[in-house]
Amino acid sequence: MSYEFDMIVIGGGAAGLTSAGMAASLGAKTMMIEKARLGGDCTWYGCIPSKILLNKGKEAKIAGRKTNYAEIADALDRIREEVYEDADHPDIFRNMGVDVRTGEATFKDNHTLSIKKENGDVESITARYFLIAAGSRAFVPPIPGLDSTPHHTNHTLFEMKKQPESMIVIGGGPIGSEMAQAFQRLGTQITIVDMGGRILSKDEPELTSIVQDSLERDGVNMQLGSGVTSVSGTDKEVQVVIEKDGSKTTLKAEKLLVATGRIPNADKLNLEAAGVKYTKRGIEVNPKCRTSQRHIYAAGDITGLYQFTHMSEHMAKVAVTNALLKVPMKIDSKHVPWCTFTDPEMAHVGASKKQLDEKGVKYEVYRFPYSKIDRAITDESTEGWIHIYAKKFSGKILGADVCGVHAGEMIGYYALAMRNGVSLKKIADTIFPYPGYALGARRAADQWYIKNQSTTLVKWIRRIFRYRGQLPDLSDPDRIV
Ligand SMILES: Cc1cc2nc3c(=O)[nH]c(=O)nc-3n(C[C@H](O)[C@H](O)[C@H](O)COP(=O)(O)OP(=O)(O)OC[C@H]3O[C@@H](n4cnc5c(N)ncnc54)[C@H](O)[C@@H]3O)c2cc1C
Repeated sequence: MSYEFDMIVIGGGAAGLTSAGMAASLGAKTMMIEKARLGGDCTWYGCIPSKILLNKGKEAKIAGRKTNYAEIADALDRIREEVYEDADHPDIFRNMGVDVRTGEATFKDNHTLSIKKENGDVESITARYFLIAAGSRAFVPPIPGLDSTPHHTNHTLFEMKKQPESMIVIGGGPIGSEMAQAFQRLGTQITIVDMGGRILSKDEPELTSIVQDSLERDGVNMQLGSGVTSVSGTDKEVQVVIEKDGSKTTLKAEKLLVATGRIPNADKLNLEAAGVKYTKRGIEVNPKCRTSQRHIYAAGDITGLYQFTHMSEHMAKVAVTNALLKVPMKIDSKHVPWCTFTDPEMAHVGASKKQLDEKGVKYEVYRFPYSKIDRAITDESTEGWIHIYAKKFSGKILGADVCGVHAGEMIGYYALAMRNGVSLKKIADTIFPYPGYALGARRAADQWYIKNQSTTLVKWIRRIFRYRGQLPDLSDPDRIV
């Protein structure tokens, strides 16, 4: 049977843009269908606007004054538009040979899509392969009263034209924590409510406490270990009833932000007609990003596996390589980095300490404080730590946590090292420029030498070469040098 297209990509976010561009560059007749504007969550409602606000918050903190929110709202529009023009605009993809269409796609059968255009017309299009990259939306929990109470999610937050005096943020995950700090620094009184006892529950508690302290110092009111029992209010004021240890308190604020996770858009695509299996957690894919239908692939947030732009791009690459090149490629689930861009940043890659402990893996923890990184000292940003989990003798890195300035950049070194089998010994032997933050990565790796330096060995060196110096005290393997 002949199909109109070799590959149709549904959704023009991070996963869709990457896959459409790659498919076209491999010579496949490719269509990309997007129901809104190309760019997806990252450009319009996620990474980009959140980082703009974090930067504006930091500027406001340094300047020590409340900022003009109208200017910030303008910056949000202007910078998002710049990113769109530079990387997401349909012409960029048309120039690559992609047929870019606006419309909402649903499956009619396993090789046919129905596309509903803006004017209401419906068109049917067939393809040999499909790549579903339709993303996710904010999960709004079934809290009594929330449906009828005005609230923001990431979809509406960045469109606000007036800065609220106060805002309650439900959820202390990466989105809630980043937005809490940004708005607090801009002058909005923030309260974070979270059922867990700490923020950033997926990260290492020893380090997230540093981020939590920083937010508290900025003035964020933390209501942790507290469940929300009901919500009510109007456009002018919301009331949030929380319960902690059996006692209830009513919090009040001008606005409410719900940041309680994401839900994949898998239920919106009539996947039943195509025989593609999915659950509430997303479209089921194997490590090659293939769905239950051999010719249909899925990548990005729609799979519910990861919720990062870089993983959407990685999965898109995996899916297109398998679908169009027939070269087996799997999702690299061992070296997934992430970063929450609060100040200080909290970043991670690979296995966590908890996962290693649960699996009974033998490893050493190599710790290095930011207070010993000269560049952090000159920048007066000495808060933070590098923790590396690695094998004792080989120095093979199993995972790393970095909390501090530029942690999002630092974690990239460990991702690169892990992916390419670069041990701590090799990092320690690499020359990094002084006084960069990257030198901190080398000095953290030096800890591997320190932990492996034995008194017996030094005694032998002294004896062989007849050295006469005092034997250093090597008894504490965790000493920082
Ligand atoms: C506030 C916030 C901050 C974030 N910060 C970061 C960060 O710092 N770093 C990071 O890595 N990640 C971050 N993320 C996550 C990141 O934005 C997502 O992981 C990423 O955008 C997912 O890309 P995607 O292509 O899977 O989906 P999306 O970007 O959501 O793209 C899906 C696209 O499909 C379209 N679509 C949906 N259904 C249909 C249909 N039926 N027909 C046609 N089109 C359809 C949608 O309109 C959308 O454009 C953040 C997310 C949020 C919400």
